Amino acid sequence: MLNDRWIVSNRGRKNSVDPQKPYAWLVEKERIISGEIEDIAIIFLTNRECPFRCLMCDLWKNTTDESVPAGAIPNQIEWALNHLPDVKHLKLYNSGSFFDGRAIPEEDYKRIASLLNSFETVIVESHPRLINEKCLIFRDMLKPDLQIALGLETVHPEIFRKLNKQMTLEDFRNSVSYLTQYGILSRAFVLLRPPFLSESEGIYWAERSLDFAFSTGVECCTVIPVRAGNGAMDILLEKGDFNPPDIHSLEIVLEYGIGLNAGRVFADVWDLGLFSSCRKCIDQRTNRLIAMNLNQKIISRDKCTCDS
Ligand code: SF4
Ligand SMILES: [Zn+2]
Repeated sequence: MLNDRWIVSNRGRKNSVDPQKPYAWLVEKERIISGEIEDIAIIFLTNRECPFRCLMCDLWKNTTDESVPAGAIPNQIEWALNHLPDVKHLKLYNSGSFFDGRAIPEEDYKRIASLLNSFETVIVESHPRLINEKCLIFRDMLKPDLQIALGLETVHPEIFRKLNKQMTLEDFRNSVSYLTQYGILSRAFVLLRPPFLSESEGIYWAERSLDFAFSTGVECCTVIPVRAGNGAMDILLEKGDFNPPDIHSLEIVLEYGIGLNAGRVFADVWDLGLFSSCRKCIDQRTNRLIAMNLNQKIISRDKCTCDS
């Protein structure tokens, strides 16, 4: 049942987007690899919908059905850079894979690279199966260091298959090895409590996924609490096959990941109110997660009645 057709058939409408403008951009703080806390800009590029159909993905909402014209992606970057403050690090997220030729034409790489000359680090995202020599071609044009973010999601064998990610764990490992071999740092996205798992299983498998990710050679992991909102996930929520994780679990997994001392581990702190039913401590917990992200240290916290 959880195939491309079912996943797509449960989607709502896309938002209207402009192929010549990014659909969002922002600046946030991140602990960079050297240990400093620095500003990092994120440009959310308007791009063609990703050809994969992962069960939990909602990135299709701000995409076009067809490829954007050549020149559109550099135009978007130029436009965003004119609206962003000067920062040293940049994430270019395109709701899919940077190295998907139908998303970003190779003929645009040169102009994109020249627009990014002033940065120290550029991070793009890609499906692990689309890691190949195109990464090297782009890297060789770039002045800043290139890092690549890859979705691992989970290493639970059965859930991994149900997520419809269309890859194997070997694909992930091979992609990270390939990048490492050519001196490109990679980071992994790990899901906290994908569908069909209890809260404690969600914690257990997020921790095993961090173990696996670091064993492949990634330098950094981001733990993402799974949410509904893309149609398919809402059906699973209604049926009781999915429940969003609790913020306590995100804290436990972040503490575990930082304690591994294997690389940077971040918790995704976007809209954490979705994962807490306790209004008394949500701000304190959110601030604690942000502080742990930035310091990569486990920080003590006050007890709350919701801890029991
Ligand atoms: S590969 Fe990434 S962008 Fe594409 S559907 Fe899966 S999660 Fe979404
Ligand atoms: Zn509480």
